[in-house]
Amino acid sequence: MAGGTNQACIFCEIVHNQTSTRLLHTDEKVIAFQDIKPSAQRHYLVIPKEHIPTVKDLQRRDEDYSLVKHMLSVGQDLLHKDAPQSIHRFGFHQPPFNSVDHLHLHCFALPFVPRWKSIKYKSLGPLGGFIEAETLLEKLRPLLSKV
Ligand SMILES: [Zn+2]
Ligand SMILES: [Zn+2]
Repeated sequence: MAGGTNQACIFCEIVHNQTSTRLLHTDEKVIAFQDIKPSAQRHYLVIPKEHIPTVKDLQRRDEDYSLVKHMLSVGQDLLHKDAPQSIHRFGFHQPPFNSVDHLHLHCFALPFVPRWKSIKYKSLGPLGGFIEAETLLEKLRPLLSKV
């Protein structure tokens, strides 16, 4: 896992409180905030405090599995609180389809607004595209889990 902080990274700046972004959640491992260009009724991002560039930097091991699991549960809690009636979706862009090179979980309360925005969050199968959080977790789940 790539460690530490990346100087030129906008999400690292948010982590270090160098922007006016309002945080929806913060804990030891992650923070959450609203996407600056929301694509859905609610559109939040959950990011690790540590600068991990993309899903390609995650491996099948306890540390990465529990990080993604934690990101998902933070996103689920926020949407459950703010948009309990909506359908929720969670996932990641895989490079080269990611916009910012700092791992971020997209959390949506549907519908997409405007509707065509959904196209940005579609899986392209073997080409990559968007990967659902649950699918990523299956890929990261340790084969010989200690739990
Ligand atoms: Zn960063
Ligand atoms: Zn993204």
